[in-house]
Amino acid sequence: MHLFLYGICDGLWPAFSNWQRQPAREAEIVGVASPLENRRKLPPPWKSIRRDIKLSVLSSIVFALAAATIVSAYELGITRLYADVDRYPLWYLAVSYVLAIVLQDTYFYFLHRLFHHPLLFRWWHQGHHQSHHPTPWTSFAFDPPEAIVQSLFLVAIVFIIPLHFITVIAILITMTVWAVVNHLGIERLPLNFPHHWCSRWFTGPAHHAVHHRRYALHYGLYFTFWDKQLGTQSPDRDREFADVPH
Ligand SMILES: [Zn+2]
Ligand SMILES: [Zn+2]
Repeated sequence: MHLFLYGICDGLWPAFSNWQRQPAREAEIVGVASPLENRRKLPPPWKSIRRDIKLSVLSSIVFALAAATIVSAYELGITRLYADVDRYPLWYLAVSYVLAIVLQDTYFYFLHRLFHHPLLFRWWHQGHHQSHHPTPWTSFAFDPPEAIVQSLFLVAIVFIIPLHFITVIAILITMTVWAVVNHLGIERLPLNFPHHWCSRWFTGPAHHAVHHRRYALHYGLYFTFWDKQLGTQSPDRDREFADVPH
């Protein structure tokens, strides 16, 4: 599922990749500290894409092993996964989905900050930052230790919160699509990309592109909540988004 969605979203990426025709207008979106500071018009180097693909394949193996662990645990009857949709009220599907997404965002934020510690960065997170101009191939380009820790969230949550299989699939779709969108590469997005949807409360390509340039900012996965609360949000953010088309 994860790889399948990843492939589809990545296949769509060239449609956005009109770097030859993009005027400099996007530079206004992110201001001085912008990932567009050099108004890059060239495609990303294939060398870095190949490097990202290699790490993504390794990550996919790790996530596949995590999925196999979850299925095995379910068959043993030791998880809180359920298949009978009548076991809880229907509204619980939505509540459990939101709860899982909020918990995953929190887990990701604090781990992500930890991985940027100088003692850990080289072995745990450097792989993801080899591309200063991320592409969708960067979405799951994790060093294997990081991929293991990321996948542990999915393994752990099925033991903690009762989740229907539909909810698990919705979480996987959300994390895959969101990761790809966050790495679309703002300099290659069309001018009418709806940045305003993901400006104040949600992360997005503009938000995450800043992290790939300035490692001390923007650690969030889905939401900007923790970045705001803990001072890792760019102080220029409001100005950066002031000119975004609505
Ligand atoms: Zn990082
Ligand atoms: Zn990234």
